[in-house]
Amino acid sequence: MNRKLFDEEHEMFRDAVRNFMQNEIRPHSDRWHEQGIVDRDAFLKAGKQGLLLMWADEKYGGSGVPDFRYEQVLIEENARYGDAGFFLSLHNRLVGPYIGELGTEEQKARWLPKCVSGEHILAVGITEPGAGSDVAGIRTKAEDKGDHYLLNGSKTYISNGILADLVVVVARTDQNSRHGMSLFVVERGMEGFERGRNLKKMGLKSQDTAELFFNNVKVPKENLLGELNRGFYHLMHFLAEERLLGAVGYVATSNAAFDITMNYIKDRKAFGKSIADFQNTRFKMASMRTEIDVAQTFVDQCVLAHNEGNLSADDAAKAKLFTSEMEGRVVDACVQLHGGAGYMDEYPICRMYLNARISRIYAGSSEVMREIIARSIGLDPRKKKPGTISNDQAA
Ligand SMILES: Cc1cc2nc3c(=O)[nH]c(=O)nc-3n(C[C@H](O)[C@H](O)[C@H](O)COP(=O)(O)OP(=O)(O)OC[C@H]3O[C@@H](n4cnc5c(N)ncnc54)[C@H](O)[C@@H]3O)c2cc1C
Repeated sequence: MNRKLFDEEHEMFRDAVRNFMQNEIRPHSDRWHEQGIVDRDAFLKAGKQGLLLMWADEKYGGSGVPDFRYEQVLIEENARYGDAGFFLSLHNRLVGPYIGELGTEEQKARWLPKCVSGEHILAVGITEPGAGSDVAGIRTKAEDKGDHYLLNGSKTYISNGILADLVVVVARTDQNSRHGMSLFVVERGMEGFERGRNLKKMGLKSQDTAELFFNNVKVPKENLLGELNRGFYHLMHFLAEERLLGAVGYVATSNAAFDITMNYIKDRKAFGKSIADFQNTRFKMASMRTEIDVAQTFVDQCVLAHNEGNLSADDAAKAKLFTSEMEGRVVDACVQLHGGAGYMDEYPICRMYLNARISRIYAGSSEVMREIIARSIGLDPRKKKPGTISNDQAA
């Protein structure tokens, strides 16, 4: 379907990004898959190309371009020509904005330039061994010790956990309130900040996902990000964008899986004809094309709404829910159409299938998305008055 949201400049940017992905990322994909982590160098190269934190002000080295469509292009090209474990957007739009929007002038000047150049890689630590969907259940705590906070606790499943130089860590700062938490920037090398294993996963093999431990880490007062005890609400503020990032990626992966499969079914023969000629194949492909096009249209509308500052939490949840579930259906059908080849690691569809399983779980699971959407349509058992939406949307 002809998409209407990109201008000529976006398309020129797309060409440059495609070139970058094909030359600087894809050639390393198999090695990264084996080693379980991408090279730091990938971020430095992306920084040199101006692909990191494009929204950041020029005085911090950025391009001062907040238009989300550029990030969309990056995600789409990475999904098709780069590597799924190269978490560019986690750095750019999921964690970076915490510093960009909540940081003081001093903090922005201190951290953003190296995030833009790729010298500093970003991660966010919310999930703990005992609390994932239920963010308000976290136990990591930070105590005010006068000139610093004393941070104790642990995080798990943290993307970029091994590579990260700066981690935005959510910690409890008010023991008397379920939502009494704050955000802290923990820096590589701080005493008591340890990393655990690079966790072995079903998919996304080239992405480093790690446990983080904080044992009496003295976090300077200047590393508190945003307002004290408002961390939970700060997190809520960024969730819509996080879910949109996911949705853009899930549609992009579905599109790439579709195209790969289209090529395969035209080449592969059985019973004297192309796999593509069986009615079952044609109908499967037709159904997928329909789903993907419809999903793309909704996601593109969400991108435009986000650019206008109008993307609602429930629309972002709908986009994330639908596209992640669709991606699961698409990659599953594509593996089936590949036959045994689809089960072989050397065929890209095999990795796409394994990678896609997490899309319905992280950044808010499908169940959590349904909860948010149900509340938005007035089905909220916690409220006497229907039609109101709670802020407590992480759970
Ligand atoms: C590869 C990977 C990367 C990740 N990256 C990060 C990261 O960078 N930073 C970070 O902080 N976290 C990260 N996570 C953690 C991720 O966000 C959590 O795994 C996710 O939020 C789910 O939490 P959980 O694993 O504790 O599952 P649980 O919360 O224990 O959920 C278990 C099941 O119960 C369901 N459930 C929970 N609550 C409800 C409810 N209210 N109603 C109905 N069903 C419910 C869930 O949907 C799920 O099916 C990552 C995880 C993975 C696997």
